[in-house]
Amino acid sequence: MSEIYNFSAGPAMLPKPVLRQMQEELVEYGNAKASVMEISHRGVDFTALAQKAEQDLRELMNIPNNYKVLFLQGGASAQFSMVPINLLRGKTKANYANTGHWSVKAIAEARRYAEVNICTDSTANNFTDIEDFSDWQIDEQAAYLHYTPNETIAGLEFDYVPEVDMPLVADMSSAILSREIDVSKFGVIYAGAQKNIGISGLTIVIVREDLIGDVVAKQPVLFDYATQANNDSMYNTPATYPWYVAGRVFEWLKDQGGIGAIEAINKRKAQKLYQAIDASGFYSNPVNPKYRSWMNVPFILADDSLNQLFLEKSYNANLLTLKGHKSVGGMRASIYNAMPESGVDTLIEFMTDFEKQYG
Ligand SMILES: *Cc1c(COP(=O)(O)O)cnc(C)c1O
Repeated sequence: MSEIYNFSAGPAMLPKPVLRQMQEELVEYGNAKASVMEISHRGVDFTALAQKAEQDLRELMNIPNNYKVLFLQGGASAQFSMVPINLLRGKTKANYANTGHWSVKAIAEARRYAEVNICTDSTANNFTDIEDFSDWQIDEQAAYLHYTPNETIAGLEFDYVPEVDMPLVADMSSAILSREIDVSKFGVIYAGAQKNIGISGLTIVIVREDLIGDVVAKQPVLFDYATQANNDSMYNTPATYPWYVAGRVFEWLKDQGGIGAIEAINKRKAQKLYQAIDASGFYSNPVNPKYRSWMNVPFILADDSLNQLFLEKSYNANLLTLKGHKSVGGMRASIYNAMPESGVDTLIEFMTDFEKQYG
C-alpha cells in the first residue's frame, strides 16, 4: 500500500514520528504511571513538559526575553477579540490589513471594540494580490496594525514584514514555524495550533511584555493577557494534551534542523508545485506569483466538471482532502511542515497523469 498524504488545511497532518510517539506514550507517560491526559497540570510531570515546550519554541523562533509565550484556548478566533481588548490601551482606533477571509473575520470582531481603519484592501482582486506597502493608508493615531501573513483560503502570503511605528500584530495561524522571522518586529504573534504546531484546542500567543496589562474595562478575566502571563497560562486548566503534542512537534522540528532547515524544504515543495501548475495548460493559480503561499496552494482545473473525478481519483491514490474552499473553488493542497516532500512529488505525478488522461 502506498503512503497516505493528507492535504487538509486544518486540523492538518501531523509528522508521522510524532503520531507514533503519541501512540507509544498514550497510556503511560514517562514516569507518571498515567496518561498525560490524566495528570494534573500543576504536577511535576506536566510542569516539566510545559516548560520544555516553551523553551523549545523560544529556541526555535529565537524569541527575545522581553516576550511572554502563552498557551491558550479559544483558537485564533479568540485572539480576534483579545487583541483589541489588550492592545487598544486607551486609544480608539486600529489599523487592519484586509487580505483575505481571516482578515475579514478579525476586522468584524475588532469593530466591536474599535474604530477600524482598513489600511489596505485586497477585496477588489479577490484576495489574489497585495497592494504595494508604500500605498497603504496607515492611521498613525491608531493603537496597532493587524495583518494576516498567510491567508489560508486564497493562498496569499506576504514575502516581507510590514515596518510600522506602532505594535505590529500578526495572525500566523497557517504560517508560524514555516520560515524564519524576526520576532522583535512584532508586538503580538498568535496562531491556532492545528496547522503547523499540533492539534486543535491550543493557541500560542507571543506578546511583548510592555503590551501586557492595560485592558478595556469589564472584559472576561481570561481574555486579559496579564491574567495568562502572571499565571504561566494556568489561571485555569490549560489544554494539556494539545500542549503536550505541541512540545513533541517542537522536538521533531529541532530534530529536522530547526526552522531554517524546514524553510528550505517548504520553499522547494511550494516552488515545484507552482511550477507544475504553471507549466500545465490544465491547472491554474490566480495569485500574484510574488505573494503565493508556501503553505496553502489553491488551484483550479480548466474544466470544473472534472472536479469530482479529480477528488475521487486522488482519494483512491491516497492523496486526501484536496477539495478547495467553496469561496475559491477547485482544489487546495495544504503543505505544512508535516507534509514530506515525497507527498508533493506524489501529488504532482498524480496531477500530471490526470491531465494526460482527461485534460
Ligand atoms: C485556521 C485559521 C484561523 C482560525 O483558527 P481557529 O483556531 O479555528 O479560531 C484564523 N486565522 C488563520 C490565518 C487561519 O488559518
